[in-house]
Amino acid sequence: MPLRTLLLLTACALPVPALADVNIYTTRQPELIQPVMDAFTAETGIQVNLAFVEEGLVERLVAEGDRSPADLVMTVDIANLTQIVAAGVIQPVASDVLRAAIPAQLRSPDDLWFALTTRARVIYASRDRVADGEVTTYEDLASAKWAGRICTRSGTHNYNLALLSAMIAHHDADYARNWAAGLRANLARRPEGNDRAQARAIWAGECDIALGNTYYMGQMLADPEQQEWANAVRIVFPTFDGGGTHINVSGVALTAAAPNRDDAVRLMEWLVSSAAQGIYAEANFEYPVLAGAARSALVQGWGDFTPDTMDLTTIANQRPTALQIMEEVNFDG
Ligand code: FE
Repeated sequence: MPLRTLLLLTACALPVPALADVNIYTTRQPELIQPVMDAFTAETGIQVNLAFVEEGLVERLVAEGDRSPADLVMTVDIANLTQIVAAGVIQPVASDVLRAAIPAQLRSPDDLWFALTTRARVIYASRDRVADGEVTTYEDLASAKWAGRICTRSGTHNYNLALLSAMIAHHDADYARNWAAGLRANLARRPEGNDRAQARAIWAGECDIALGNTYYMGQMLADPEQQEWANAVRIVFPTFDGGGTHINVSGVALTAAAPNRDDAVRLMEWLVSSAAQGIYAEANFEYPVLAGAARSALVQGWGDFTPDTMDLTTIANQRPTALQIMEEVNFDG
């Protein structure tokens, strides 16, 4: 049953029939999720209804309370996942299947959220103007050799706040403040645009390296207008000193209301199967969380890297400090 019909039924207070459906609120574009849901339906006969909630997901879940038709929420970025949990609209899922498939640092210690895919925050480096091995660590981005050569989106965007949060967790707040100030001093222009706009800036010769998420390379290559931006850069996987490459996640959580709890949990567990992981990661140019699951050929072509093993909950806990630092150093100003 389409979600709209379900909402109407709920609004009219009619008895809701027993449904072999799972309803999902997603902040991700439905077309990126549909292929994996179609595979689930083909295997189980359970229909999945996707409602794209571009903004106000938390507010909507809070307003609907225990009358919410949503069983699952799917979103990206650890900040969004922890924000939904903090709003009290999520219930835990104690599942041996999920625990076995997903590394501990990529799920809530309380079984409240679960990563389904990861993405690395990497360097887009000019193919023409940056030599192999010229950039190797995040810490190095604050060194004077990069003066006037770096582009990035806003320092207060979730992706950059998570990176700075990880920097705090690896060092401390003072180190991270100096680093953020040093990075700011090296910027070729004020932070603006999204990650893809930074690749465009490198293509246009405005800067030589930029921070960006891995999957946007796939998205740019799939877009005729953006292909040449992607082709102007290559992906470099920097690491933290003594650590790995910063990763963030897309994830799923079970709502407290979950009218179709059993089927929803069945879907969650299916989403970490080898087949589902391959389909989902392929559609989004992301990395599966399940060890050994297939990566797309394009993603494979970027090469291997060592993901940072810093716990995402630890990173999320540093977010308020990271935001304060970005404001103190006037990163976007
Ligand atoms: Fe993104």
